[in-house]
Amino acid sequence: MWPAIITPAQHHQLVAAFARKKVTGRRTPRRYLLSGLLRCGKCGNKLFSSVRNDRKVETRRYVCMSGPDHGGCGKLTVVAAPLEEWIAEAVLIRLDSPTMADALAGRAAADERYAATLAELDRDRAQMEELAGMWSAKSISTAEWMSAREPIERRIQTAERQLSQMTGTSTLDGLIGNGTGLRDAWEGLNLTRQAAIIAAVLDFATILPGTPGARGLDPNRIVPTWAL
Ligand SMILES: [Zn+2]
Repeated sequence: MWPAIITPAQHHQLVAAFARKKVTGRRTPRRYLLSGLLRCGKCGNKLFSSVRNDRKVETRRYVCMSGPDHGGCGKLTVVAAPLEEWIAEAVLIRLDSPTMADALAGRAAADERYAATLAELDRDRAQMEELAGMWSAKSISTAEWMSAREPIERRIQTAERQLSQMTGTSTLDGLIGNGTGLRDAWEGLNLTRQAAIIAAVLDFATILPGTPGARGLDPNRIVPTWAL
């Protein structure tokens, strides 16, 4: 088995989100690319998005939040824009990597297994119907029918269980080995789509404490843990 790229539940959410967008024609109001994907390097807690208003200048940030609702240390902050740029770039590079090509090859093999199992299941179900037809036409006795259907039923149960354990997703279809092409299209993708691509590749990133007074984002503060 290979690790599921996104869970079936997430997949359904995505599909639903795209469907909603088609209907309303509006952009998803999401403003934070990395929501849920960042951890505090001091306490390990999730970082939350937050806007700081400083003399009418809004700065989007990800922050560790303390207090009963969040339970973090409250002592870590990172400015969102340069971090999002860095992570997006790292994801695009990663989509071109041999690791990713291997993951895709694994999925192709899995897709073949899925199709083969599905075909077997169809054949077994057809045979069950055939048996029932023979029994109702009185070509076979009830005892013959019962003993003939037993192994087929077992195969059907096994196949159904196997199929339910195989997950498929199309989030990364056409993207792997295509980081360069995707880079050109990236800015034109909406935030939901960008976030789905990042979440498919990145498990989470830990943000280490910064040096007080440092200008710009030190890339050494970012420690990605890749999902693929
Ligand atoms: Zn913290």
